[in-house]
Amino acid sequence: MSREKPRVRFAPSPTGDLHVGNARTALFNWLYARHYGGRLILRIEDTDRERTTKAFEDNLIEDLKWLTLDWDEGPEKGGFLGPYRQSDRLDLYDVFLKKLIQEEMVYPCYCTEEELELERTALLSRKIAPRYLGKCRNLTLKERGRLEAQGRKPAYRFKVQPGPIAFPDQIRGPMKFEGEAIGDFIIVRSNGIPAYNFAVVIDDHFMEISTVIRGEDHLSNTAIQLMLYEALGFAPPQFAHHALILGRDRTKLSKRHGSVSVREFREQGILPEALLNYLALLGGSLGEGREVCSVDELVAAFSLDRAGKSGAVFDEDKLVWL
Ligand code: GLU
Repeated sequence: MSREKPRVRFAPSPTGDLHVGNARTALFNWLYARHYGGRLILRIEDTDRERTTKAFEDNLIEDLKWLTLDWDEGPEKGGFLGPYRQSDRLDLYDVFLKKLIQEEMVYPCYCTEEELELERTALLSRKIAPRYLGKCRNLTLKERGRLEAQGRKPAYRFKVQPGPIAFPDQIRGPMKFEGEAIGDFIIVRSNGIPAYNFAVVIDDHFMEISTVIRGEDHLSNTAIQLMLYEALGFAPPQFAHHALILGRDRTKLSKRHGSVSVREFREQGILPEALLNYLALLGGSLGEGREVCSVDELVAAFSLDRAGKSGAVFDEDKLVWL
């Protein structure tokens, strides 16, 4: 741990109700910030225009407040510390898109959804993991001009270099991915909206995040993000990927397991401390096998080593009796 106070963030996408798995990510970030006297930033990742709604965002903020997971920075409005929103930062992403275009680290891709789907299906039928094969990587200026004359608007793809991408994960230990397995990925879509991986790297850099704590379903995104850190000349943060919450059948917790959103528990009359406690102690991650801890005890006991190393099985019945 460096001498500086850590800066962490919770970065939900308001495309649905807050899932207990995401609430656990928020809790780990909050406990980490409070344990080390650092700062927690709330960033709403609302670039997916089709799936994002204001109602989901409002509800998400209500859920966090109900859980008493407060954050330390954000734009102030009417005495309320608001979250940062990616939709307010589109100009910033554009600056870095232009930089990468100029440095020829990205290229315009004119492939349509249908063309990409055909490529995916062809690869799958040959039992090859689908990835973009680089059809538009070497288009000449003339070919690009011809496609644009047909009215096609390009997305921008990052030129992935072959070779290993390795990083030490604070929870899982050394991790390694191969560039060859990752196709050139989109950083800005044809509608001008930045893709998740691109916006996240720019935000985490400018928000001076020291440790990214999130679920292990983002591990392969970290490999992609590390390529972008290097291309943009930014020093990467540390990464910690915690195991996900599983249902009783040991598959990833989802709707079919029953109540999975914080709102549902709120509406059932569960106390916020009960849910917080349950999420913190799930999987034996904190609390030395104890059944109930105060929030102060959770803050004092928190360590990344113990949080979320193995998949935690969610048992709603247990929660009800807490
Ligand atoms: N918006 C992403 C999500 O909700 C954030 C992932 C991350 O923490 O980088 O999954």
